[in-house]
Amino acid sequence: MPFPSIIAIDGPAASGKSTLGYRLARKLGYLYFDTGVMYRAVTWLALDNGTDVYDEAAVTALAESARIDVRPPTRDDGRTADVLVNGQDVTWEIRRQDVESKVSVVAAYPGVRAALTEQQRRIGLRGRVVMVGRDIGTVVLPEADLKIYLDASVEERARRRFTELQARGVSASLEEITAAMRRRDELDSTRQVAPLRPAEDAVIVNSDGMSIEEVLAYVVELCTREAQRR
Ligand code: C5P
Repeated sequence: MPFPSIIAIDGPAASGKSTLGYRLARKLGYLYFDTGVMYRAVTWLALDNGTDVYDEAAVTALAESARIDVRPPTRDDGRTADVLVNGQDVTWEIRRQDVESKVSVVAAYPGVRAALTEQQRRIGLRGRVVMVGRDIGTVVLPEADLKIYLDASVEERARRRFTELQARGVSASLEEITAAMRRRDELDSTRQVAPLRPAEDAVIVNSDGMSIEEVLAYVVELCTREAQRR
């Protein structure tokens, strides 16, 4: 009865997929890999070195040449991974609002996606991995053993992000957050390459009104069922 080895979790911004993915990976003793940090890292690099994020060729060249490392966390400051760009720790920098507001522009460039997808696929195919993103079940790892599409209403997701930002001492209004989230979802789901959408064989989970423990318990049950089915 093999347990699913490659687990893909996709979904819109703040649907809870990172928390779910991290907790699930810890429970199973698998590698947790959040692919969103790679798109954020390229965006951060462009902003940091003054590259125009609307210059597709320049941003693509950056993505192709940058060394992005995602490693197990070395600091106990709430991070779930260390993210390094050309050796510099940018784990918290990539969460900045200016990065967040431009990341979907950068993530829509086919050349950027090709460069990052290849690295993600290489890591994912090693197995015993929970990989989180927008296109894991559809493009990065279509052979995943279990695919979850975690959804929630935009209102609930914006509320969660608002609480998260408040806890980090970042000020932003709920209205601003909701508007930015709608914009990002729109860009992510309408782009030409690898748009955000559930894979045909994904299990769609709507987490509105569910706690993370409930979602986690449900997904663990899905893993067990999948193992029994094989
Ligand atoms: O998941 P997170 O919010 O950190 O992702 C940031 C952005 O990176 C997303 O809004 C999306 O534009 C992009 N992304 C993507 N494909 C992935 C993961 C993230 O396009 N697999």
